[in-house]
Amino acid sequence: MIPFREYHTLGISVSAQRLLLPHSEDEVPDAAAQSSYVIGEGSNILPLGDLPSILSTRNLRGYRVLRASENSVEVEVAAGENWDRWVRLCIAQGWHGLENLAAIPGTVGAAVVQNIGAYGAELAPFLVSVRGWNKALEAWQELPAEACELNYRYSIFQQPEWRDKFIITRVTLRLNRRFSPVLSYPDVMQRVNPTRQHDPWHLYETVRMIRAEKLPAYGSAGSFFKNPILSLEELKALQSRAPEVPFYAQSDGRFKVAAAWLIDKAGLKGYRIGGAQVYPRQPLVLVNADGATPEEFYALVQHIQKSVYERWGVQLEPEVRLLPPT
Ligand SMILES: Cc1cc2nc3c(=O)[nH]c(=O)nc-3n(C[C@H](O)[C@H](O)[C@H](O)COP(=O)(O)OP(=O)(O)OC[C@H]3O[C@@H](n4cnc5c(N)ncnc54)[C@H](O)[C@@H]3O)c2cc1C
Repeated sequence: MIPFREYHTLGISVSAQRLLLPHSEDEVPDAAAQSSYVIGEGSNILPLGDLPSILSTRNLRGYRVLRASENSVEVEVAAGENWDRWVRLCIAQGWHGLENLAAIPGTVGAAVVQNIGAYGAELAPFLVSVRGWNKALEAWQELPAEACELNYRYSIFQQPEWRDKFIITRVTLRLNRRFSPVLSYPDVMQRVNPTRQHDPWHLYETVRMIRAEKLPAYGSAGSFFKNPILSLEELKALQSRAPEVPFYAQSDGRFKVAAAWLIDKAGLKGYRIGGAQVYPRQPLVLVNADGATPEEFYALVQHIQKSVYERWGVQLEPEVRLLPPT
């Protein structure tokens, strides 16, 4: 068994049977055959106890330009590249579109798995294809973006047929050569200096600053729950209990509701079970405040789901992946 605390951002003291860290694609099939779970940098997982063997893609590095035109560039990047470092490299190269996704922890491969999003942008519009090892078929596969079915914090790789069975090793992105800032998010709009709004580094630093004010520096997995998407009937039922609940109309006719509001107004801000706590500054974030055990963390997750359901009739779904023990 090896200590797993350093390999995930919640920093819970659990062990893993083995940790396989392939340094090249050639090593992936063998490592995949020996592992039960696939992770990147562990910034979106909650271990529920000591874990079986794990493959981490974090050592798969590198990138290459596939084609470039006047307006765009297509780049293939290894799944283990750190996302934020990749965003900075893109800005430095004059490849644009990812600036609002600054400072999101984790790897490029996992960014596809959960279609990362923040501050008015998400990964989906930039994805061209992914390549990976299909453990079930024992074959390399290249999937075009459409086949990955990216949606709000979702991709096909979260489905049981794909999860831990398809190891993403490369991601191809199409980026813009012209910078056109996305300032739709109110916080970003207010903080960007209008005289510098055409400087991609300024947008990057602004997003970074906003995030640093809201998120804990360590001991979390970011937003723990997804914002629930409700039908009109479900929204009306919720409004009868909570007339002032914030909601946002979606293009498919449904409504996204702020999970942070539901948790906060259920009286859970700062709520604590042992070392696991609802982060007082942002109730959608759960933190390992003081040596939380997997049991304490899981009890907190269940308590929040139960309280929110009883108070508002809405079921919260974790965004973070819960990893059961061996
Ligand atoms: C402080 C903080 C802030 C955050 N803010 C945001 C945010 O603003 N927006 C956002 O969308 N997310 C956010 N997150 C969540 C997290 O950063 C993303 O989910 C990130 O993409 C996870 O990357 P990772 O490499 O750590 O993945 P891991 O946590 O290691 O894995 C996440 C999932 O992806 C799967 N996976 C990972 N790599 C591969 C691969 N190569 N092939 C197949 N499956 C794979 C794993 O099985 C698991 O299901 C935040 C997290 C933290 C800690």
